[in-house]
Amino acid sequence: MRVLIIGGGGREHALAWRLAHSPEVERVFATPGNPGIARAGKCIPAGDGSPNAFLAVAESLDADLTLVGPEAPLVAGIVDAFRARGRLVFGPTAAAARLEGSKVFAKNFLMQRGIPTAAFATAPDAATALRALERFTYPVVIKADGLAAGKGVVVAEDRTMAEAALASLKPPFVIEEFLTGEEVSYIVLSDGRNVVPLEPTQDHKAVFNGDTGPNTGGMGAYCDSRILTAEQSREILDRIIRPTVEATGFTGFLYAGLMMTRAGPKVLEFNVRLGDPETQPIMHRLGSDLAPFLLAAARGALPDAPLQWNPGPSVCVVMASGGYPGAFTTGQPIHGIAAAEATGATVFHAGTRQGPTGLETAGGRVLGVTASGPDLAAAIDNAYAAAHLIHFEEMHYRTDIGRKGLKRYGSATI
Ligand code: AMP
Repeated sequence: MRVLIIGGGGREHALAWRLAHSPEVERVFATPGNPGIARAGKCIPAGDGSPNAFLAVAESLDADLTLVGPEAPLVAGIVDAFRARGRLVFGPTAAAARLEGSKVFAKNFLMQRGIPTAAFATAPDAATALRALERFTYPVVIKADGLAAGKGVVVAEDRTMAEAALASLKPPFVIEEFLTGEEVSYIVLSDGRNVVPLEPTQDHKAVFNGDTGPNTGGMGAYCDSRILTAEQSREILDRIIRPTVEATGFTGFLYAGLMMTRAGPKVLEFNVRLGDPETQPIMHRLGSDLAPFLLAAARGALPDAPLQWNPGPSVCVVMASGGYPGAFTTGQPIHGIAAAEATGATVFHAGTRQGPTGLETAGGRVLGVTASGPDLAAAIDNAYAAAHLIHFEEMHYRTDIGRKGLKRYGSATI
């Protein structure tokens, strides 16, 4: 199989790395890819990033299967464009991708289907939103409707903050009840009818330790089967995932961002693709060959068999550029990746490029240092032992990735 991966971040590197190990895969291609992906396959320039530009790349390679990493091409209709040409692609149609592309659409969908989510109001403009705020207590959550790369959500502690949020975000708005509990990323592979769940993960969105500071694209994640009990997973599948797939005929990776509240799991958001950085620890732990599952799902015939997982948890620590998530520096030489990988960890590239003197930084999130271990404590230690060997000027990373798991269920070996 010749597989084309669309995208060029850490998520796409993790997918390319996993698929390059598959006996079913002849060659991995990525567009635009990155220097890490170039070690696992061939990278091709992405043109203008439109669905038709990606289609042209897939046709020139005669790719047997195309996987779409990021949300923007999915919302723009890349799957519809590929299908119209009879080319196999794994992802949701533009209609199904509205679950991520419009928060107003997603909330109305959830309400109409009786799928648990935070109480909410929608507002076409700030004046209507201000009136709707009267019905909520603080803190309250204010969300912009469209894609915002994780920057469209504000938790407002009081009316003044809420007014500032409405002034800074793009309408229309969703105003939401503030939920408390553990956040879990629950992702499934779907062929339009049947689903195969991936192992649960927890992301760390805030930039600093202890979940403080502004939100980022994600500063790290861990994958551990103990994040959810079997009972909780069943409830998520029965009350959230299956009704959503049934109603939309969703194909691709469906990602439910959940709050595990006292009243059960509630949907914070849907993503219509794999998470970044959740994909990095997920691919590190995956025991099965992913390629046949993706191919079968793209053909609408997922096998009724679960994916196999290595028992030990995995952890990804994101190393970021100075200033991120604000304005950040680039062009800093990166040292120590080979030493980090010699420890057994895998270093997934996100914002890197080849500069005149070698590998250098080219984005906010630069690397995802990923390791596994016999238990969560060991996986955390292994990831940080590798991260400590990497250096670039002004780099920063959280030093508490995975700690919330340790706090919840201790460090005992599985
Ligand atoms: P979203 O993009 O909708 O997942 O929101 C980004 C982040 O904001 C989530 O990961 C949560 O940490 C937080 N968040 C969103 N909605 C709520 C809510 N209703 N209650 C509490 N926190 C929320």
